[in-house]
Amino acid sequence: MTALSPHLRQATPVVAARGEGVHLFDQDGRRYLDFTAGIGVTSTGHCHPKVVAAAQEQVGTLIHGQYTTVMHQPLRRLVDKLGEVLPAGLDSLFFTNSGSEAVESALRLARQATGRPNVLVCHGGFHGRTVAAASMTTSGTRFRSGFSPLMSGVVVTPFPTAYRYGWDEETATRFALKELDYTLQTISSPADTAAIIVEPVLGEGGYVPANRGFMEGLRERADRHGFLLILDEVQTGVGRTGRFWGHDHFGVTPDILVTAKGLASGFPLSGIAASEELMTKAWPGSQGGTYGANAVACAAACATLDVVRDEKLVENADAMGKRLRHGLEAVADRTPGIGDVRGLGLMLATEFVTEDGSPDPETAARVQRAAVDEGLLLLLCGAWNQVVRMIPALVIDETAVDEGLQAWATAV
Ligand code: PLP
Repeated sequence: MTALSPHLRQATPVVAARGEGVHLFDQDGRRYLDFTAGIGVTSTGHCHPKVVAAAQEQVGTLIHGQYTTVMHQPLRRLVDKLGEVLPAGLDSLFFTNSGSEAVESALRLARQATGRPNVLVCHGGFHGRTVAAASMTTSGTRFRSGFSPLMSGVVVTPFPTAYRYGWDEETATRFALKELDYTLQTISSPADTAAIIVEPVLGEGGYVPANRGFMEGLRERADRHGFLLILDEVQTGVGRTGRFWGHDHFGVTPDILVTAKGLASGFPLSGIAASEELMTKAWPGSQGGTYGANAVACAAACATLDVVRDEKLVENADAMGKRLRHGLEAVADRTPGIGDVRGLGLMLATEFVTEDGSPDPETAARVQRAAVDEGLLLLLCGAWNQVVRMIPALVIDETAVDEGLQAWATAV
């Protein structure tokens, strides 16, 4: 008898038989409101008809046309479409299959382009599970322990996590930037620093948004010292936060942008964007992969970007995010043990704490289980798994938000 590895045990007992919009259905036809969206992947909802049609058509035309060998139409179209939404200057694209691979591509490019060894990472950041990406991940020892030695050259610097320290946002930001300056003076000199990588909202680390002052501070230091700013928008990109990119909240443009998850509505596709001048500094042969920019994934991504634009999903994420947040705050106000509600757009979270304010993963897990009984699927995050997060598809409407809130209130 074969079985899945214990590491792949599901967070819920649900066996998904099919998906439609914001719902999943199990083998017995029971309907679940899916506030996980495949960990923020099925941005246009499960099986959006336009994404399905684009993928089906592509499967019958060309499944794989290896992109270092031949160009194909879906890739050409995707490059043009991304050109409409990427910040000015990030006009050169490279594609991979997962967030971790794209993060590693960004790291390789930064090291090769600058000739410097170190990468600064923000404490609490998550960048993936491949060895280099895990080395840059500091959102929980569970992602790092047991397979050392990790990659060298990673230096950790604070992220403004105001709630954790009971600080206001300004104090947390001042602390984080001063520590960064200290780090550049004491551990990783600018001459040794290739880049700093950061998420606009800490994802696995507990759904903590950055802020304008912090991001401007990073941009200023990167420019002053000649290292690169890499924004990991794997989870925050393609409308998730109520802006097309997470960094649109802060008015700060990266040197390298990393995207994945919501880009192709569930097909494996990720990539990085940078200026052509920067991208050409990658050494020949150092970037690439057999399956990158798979034709079906690219066709699905083109359809996804059309749906996001035509159905105004970025605006919807903003509006529905506000509605959901309002409801979560109302529940928090009347519930002892909820310490914080935070996030941006449709990337929202509730942190559970004990009476003395310590992280309370047991309650978070109990609420997650109780929610399944209410027909609501949720995920945990945070260093202790003490945070329950909500990342529904961007197509969610008011009725589904309110249904989710009803189920949440009962579960809590
Ligand atoms: N970066 C961020 C911000 C993520 O949230 C994730 C996954 O959750 C990754 C990178 C890694 O992506 P993947 O699991 O596709 O390798």
